[in-house]
Amino acid sequence: MPGFFACSNGCGRAYNTYATMSRHVRLDCGSERRFQCNQCQKYFKRKYHLKRHYTTHSKTVKIE
Ligand SMILES: [Zn+2]
Ligand SMILES: [Zn+2]
Repeated sequence: MPGFFACSNGCGRAYNTYATMSRHVRLDCGSERRFQCNQCQKYFKRKYHLKRHYTTHSKTVKIE
C-alpha cells in the first residue's frame, strides 16, 4: 500500500500523506493521552467515551 504513513508516535493511526501524518503528530497526537478501542482501533479523548463505545460492541459479535 503506497503512501501509507503510520503515526511516528506509534499511536496506531495512519495517513495517506506524510504531511497529514506530521500534522497529526503536531496537533492531534502526543499532548493528550488517547483511549483506543481494542476491537475497532477507534480513538477517544476520554475514558468515559471509550467505555460507552464498548457497549456498542457487546451488542454485536464480531465475526472475523
Ligand atoms: Zn499519533
Ligand atoms: Zn470499537
